[in-house]
Amino acid sequence: MRHIAIIGSGPAGYYTAEAAQKQWGDGVRVDIFDLLPVPYGLIRTGVAPDHQSIKGVAKRYEGTALSENVRFVGNVTIGEDVSIAELQGLYDAVVLATGAPNDKPAGIPGEGLENVFGSAAFVGWYNGHPQFAKLSPDLSGRHAVVIGNGNVALDVARILSKTADEFHGSDIVAHALHALQKSHIEQITILGRRGPHQIAMTPKELGELGHLTRACPRVDPADLPAEEEDLFLEPGQRKSVTHLRSFAAIPEEFRCDKPVEIEFDFFASPRAILGDGTVSGIEIERTALDSEGRASGTGETYTIPCSLVVTAIGYKTSPIPGVPFEEGAGRFANDEGRILPGLYCVGWARRGPSGTIGTNRPDGFGVIEKIAEDLDSGALYHEVKQGRRGFDALAAERKLEVVTFRDWKKIEAEEEARARTGAPREKFVAVEDMIKARGE
Ligand SMILES: Cc1cc2nc3c(=O)[nH]c(=O)nc-3n(C[C@H](O)[C@H](O)[C@H](O)COP(=O)(O)OP(=O)(O)OC[C@H]3O[C@@H](n4cnc5c(N)ncnc54)[C@H](O)[C@@H]3O)c2cc1C
Repeated sequence: MRHIAIIGSGPAGYYTAEAAQKQWGDGVRVDIFDLLPVPYGLIRTGVAPDHQSIKGVAKRYEGTALSENVRFVGNVTIGEDVSIAELQGLYDAVVLATGAPNDKPAGIPGEGLENVFGSAAFVGWYNGHPQFAKLSPDLSGRHAVVIGNGNVALDVARILSKTADEFHGSDIVAHALHALQKSHIEQITILGRRGPHQIAMTPKELGELGHLTRACPRVDPADLPAEEEDLFLEPGQRKSVTHLRSFAAIPEEFRCDKPVEIEFDFFASPRAILGDGTVSGIEIERTALDSEGRASGTGETYTIPCSLVVTAIGYKTSPIPGVPFEEGAGRFANDEGRILPGLYCVGWARRGPSGTIGTNRPDGFGVIEKIAEDLDSGALYHEVKQGRRGFDALAAERKLEVVTFRDWKKIEAEEEARARTGAPREKFVAVEDMIKARGE
């Protein structure tokens, strides 16, 4: 029997479990650990609440989760409740699928001011991640700035500008919905250091900005390269740029009909966040691109007054004591998923924060291939491991309050039962409430 521990129940964790089942069938036992009492990682706490069809992918993981040889072991933080060394003593292989939950700092003065948030925190707030549920951003000002030119920046801008009706059918948590309903934000500036051809925004997410009830996107036509240059872009990127061109063509009179403007400020590098205690503005330097597409400052600066800043410029994995870490890249040091004998990583913890949910599937299958190779070749010192029996004994000794998949199904049923009309669920946002909801 093979015993595999997977740390993290996001897409990478579940795809790895699926791959282990395909590899060893009934000859494997997989335990999937998560620090939260609820599974699915960023599908629950990252993917936008108004993108329910994407969140629906979690249903597909249930096939894996509900099979006899895979267990969910929730509410256990590896590196705190149980160490990696302890898991390695119990399982043949330990796979870190812990994602990249920390915001990369922008590295500019003023980041510590009040009402300046990283997107992990801000997105976690509106998605009900227990760590960020109490964030309480102040939305009483007029102007918000979002730093970054990827889909997460678009998610943040869209969520900030939607009406209550537009959240119908979403699972945005009640505290965020109420705060957004009272928001006074009228101007959302999305800052990008480079230009329209360098965005990392996909067509669907950009296209949505053109159909918002009370917000209208604005692109300065002067920022767009000559149209024939679009021909050199790959088709998806060309489609995204076409959306920007259509935003640039929106007539002024039409824009004025809507109370919120989402403005794309390209070739704009933030230099400092300004304020005394709380953010009051942001200083920006104009950039120009060199022939390789790299941005450098032109020396021309300007200031935008604003009362909320969200940085959406990437994420880092949390280091775990004893596990080699690549500080610069913000992920575990690994060679195609191998970290140390018997210790592996997968998903964002392996690659860093890039790709879609689906990108994690080949990653999961790849790491199981490596584990199988290492086990078969004798590269791992092989003693008979106790697997989950050993973990259960350790958990009992430490009085860990483990949450099972069956418990999660009860929590899920409670969340569905308390949903507002039209919403799929109302999430519990405190760990204690999740645990209470599973009952006895
Ligand atoms: C804001 C946002 C929106 C996104 N929207 C989309 C989208 O619309 N479409 C799309 O395809 N992709 C989207 N993505 C990308 C997608 O979410 C990722 O590709 C995917 O979630 C990465 O999977 P993962 O399993 O590596 O990490 P995660 O999903 O982050 O899962 C990691 C899990 O590990 C757990 N964990 C961490 N540390 C420990 C520990 N020490 N002990 C126990 N458990 C631990 C965490 O609680 C978490 O459950 C989005 C990402 C973000 C940030």
